[in-house]
Amino acid sequence: MIPGARLVLLGRQGSGKGTQCVRLSRHFVVPHISTGDMLRAAVREGTELGKMAKAIIDAGGLVGDDIMVGLVSERLAEDDARVRGYILDGFPRTVSQAESLDKATASRPLDLAIDLVVPRELVLARLSIRRVCRDCGTNYQATGHETSQWSCDNCGGDVVQRDDDTPDAINRRLDLYESQTEPLIDFYGKTGRLAQVDGVGSPEEVFGRLTEAVEQRR
Ligand code: ADP
Repeated sequence: MIPGARLVLLGRQGSGKGTQCVRLSRHFVVPHISTGDMLRAAVREGTELGKMAKAIIDAGGLVGDDIMVGLVSERLAEDDARVRGYILDGFPRTVSQAESLDKATASRPLDLAIDLVVPRELVLARLSIRRVCRDCGTNYQATGHETSQWSCDNCGGDVVQRDDDTPDAINRRLDLYESQTEPLIDFYGKTGRLAQVDGVGSPEEVFGRLTEAVEQRR
């Protein structure tokens, strides 16, 4: 394994994308840059960005491209990402964001965009029982037998249901994914930077397929 990689992971909500990104970032020793986590942190901290984004996120809408491109460009300019690379999770989400990413990374282009393929029917059930650590983002599945105070095994933070994991917001996000984000599969396919990986299977199996796709590329 050669450390360092510049990756985008695409995949619909509930595909296991976030969890796989965490593993990939450890494996390739690159920062995991999740725009959803960055926005949720801004909401918690009550920054201007957070105040603006909260209603959009809770309704399952998309924050404006200009704001997102600014946020990600700043993050990619930090030393760790410039030197080692990155794994982008939740960005780009529109063709316009992908075009801006190409401009921002022209001197060190993306290695690969991976589409983690999981059918919509499969993710719906997973999303309704998804719980997430407020601090480190680790995902859990509720069994219905949890005590009211649930602490994260990883960092001790509070494990909660996301405000946007309601049936309405979930459906809106999945629709937006199909209309706004799926066109990226073509965008990266046409420019020879796409790998499609079957996301159905155990987390270990899926992780094995993902690392293989990256290694094949290099
Ligand atoms: P999801 O479960 O929908 O993949 P994320 O955790 O990636 O969620 O993002 C949560 C919310 O943050 C999105 O529904 C959207 O409102 C906002 N968001 C995150 N990334 C972007 C982006 N690249 N462009 C626009 N909005 C974004």
